[in-house]
Amino acid sequence: MGCTHDCDNCSVACSSKKPESLKLEPNELSNVKKVIGVISGKGGVGKSTITSMLAVAMNREGFKTAVLDADITGPSIPKAFGLHERAKGSEIGIFPSITSTGIEIMSVNLLLENETDPVVWRGPVISGTVKQFWTDVVWNDVDYMFVDMPPGTGDVALTVFQSLPLDGIIIVTSPQELVSMIVEKAVKMAEMMNIPILGIVENMSYFKCPECGKEHKIFGESNIGQAAEKFGTKVIARMPIDPEFAKCEDDGSIEQYVSDCLDDAVDMLKGL
Ligand code: ADP
Repeated sequence: MGCTHDCDNCSVACSSKKPESLKLEPNELSNVKKVIGVISGKGGVGKSTITSMLAVAMNREGFKTAVLDADITGPSIPKAFGLHERAKGSEIGIFPSITSTGIEIMSVNLLLENETDPVVWRGPVISGTVKQFWTDVVWNDVDYMFVDMPPGTGDVALTVFQSLPLDGIIIVTSPQELVSMIVEKAVKMAEMMNIPILGIVENMSYFKCPECGKEHKIFGESNIGQAAEKFGTKVIARMPIDPEFAKCEDDGSIEQYVSDCLDDAVDMLKGL
């Protein structure tokens, strides 16, 4: 009774009413074209590393890129890019820090007085911060934004899925993680939220001996192909274990790291 059959302008709560979107509007000065979430089942599989490398790879292709570090309690993005100065703001919003090759970054570590201070905040405060990274940060002109999500399927991951206009997610896993069911839970969460799964990156896939060039499967043979099929997606990269990686991240020079391992991922993103 009283239903106008136009859910956008009707106040009647009938059973066919479209659910209200929880998506947030970005800062009015932001212009972000594609938003890609990077997720993993558990921590330590290289999600932040791959997020940074994807931003670097797309930037090298001439796209304007950005990283929104939603891993609030384990922020490692600024360090990988050698950013230690605090971000600035004005009445129009907070400005992202800019890396040496022009990538825009926002992370809680750029706002803390001391970058080693722990973030001892309750869940709603953490989720609120992630939302503000979208609504209050002035993202200039961004072709591809990568969101480094916290591992797992918790409160903050849900906030990102619900509040940000994600074009898709990339799953980062390691051969050992794949055998667990944690990564599957993350995939199912994305499916529940109707977010397209763009592909899987298998990190720490193998170690290539610098002496003989032979590839060693340190963590054993993985079943990444089968897993991708099961999740209805494809493998878009296999990254080796490379001590140079960890070194670049430690000394803040990730932008100097060159590898062709992400070429297929780059092609996929260009076609989005
Ligand atoms: P996550 O974001 O999943 O918690 P990180 O990206 O922070 O994981 O990676 C954890 C650690 O492993 C970091 O010290 C990083 O430098 C290292 N690491 C990640 N991937 C590789 C790799 N392919 N080879 C060597 N070290 C790696």
